[in-house]
Amino acid sequence: MNKIRPYILAETNWQTLKDASFDLAILPWGATEAHNYHLPYATDNYEADYLAAEGARLAWERGAKPIVLPTIPFGVNTGQSDIYLDININPTTQLAILEDILTTLSRQGIYKLMIFNSHGGNNFKPLVRELGLKFPKMFICFASWFQAMNREDYFVKDGDHAEEMETSLILYLKPHLVLPKSFWGKGSSKKFRINAFSEGWAWAERKWSEVSEDTGIGDPELATAEKGEKFFTDVSKKMGDFMFDLCEADLENLYE
Ligand SMILES: [Zn+2]
Repeated sequence: MNKIRPYILAETNWQTLKDASFDLAILPWGATEAHNYHLPYATDNYEADYLAAEGARLAWERGAKPIVLPTIPFGVNTGQSDIYLDININPTTQLAILEDILTTLSRQGIYKLMIFNSHGGNNFKPLVRELGLKFPKMFICFASWFQAMNREDYFVKDGDHAEEMETSLILYLKPHLVLPKSFWGKGSSKKFRINAFSEGWAWAERKWSEVSEDTGIGDPELATAEKGEKFFTDVSKKMGDFMFDLCEADLENLYE
């Protein structure tokens, strides 16, 4: 990248911003954690950085005014306390961070916030509910890019952590950070013995280190950079359309 992107807060400057105004703040939120043996600890952050930036670029080029805030690099990793240097921040810490950011945005007249979620352990719904009451002028929403597409349209093997999808994305975005294929673990994982958890209507935290030996969930074997590129392009487009819609939305007239 050899040009300042005006929709990326980390790159722009006071010269530009002193007279600027934006309609939507986008807050990418990742995690710092092991991703099988072969992917970098910042996998979720790289995904968030690149996807949020590309989505915002597409919305910007259609005339919308989004601004992407710096990615929050730590997420909820309460189930991985014994995995070396997986850095957990608690949901209550996330609430405090969001409250401070919303205080700035609402004071400065940016009334729309989209949390761009890149990590399965982050659960923003209860936080958005609580913050919505505290900031009645703000429209707060979140989207998880990894749920935006039908993943069977892109990938053969299922999974949800360092699997074919994430390995393909990092092969495309940061190929020099992916260890050679001989290091890729199988990503096989155990399920709860109690059926209700597998059926999806009951939930308990999984103790990650007992569920997966290589920390992956899902076999990355069939991952390729080409699959990563196609998926990246389609997710960015979908997120960009969403960002555009949010920028355009009239907060007084949201329902039909
Ligand atoms: Zn991940």
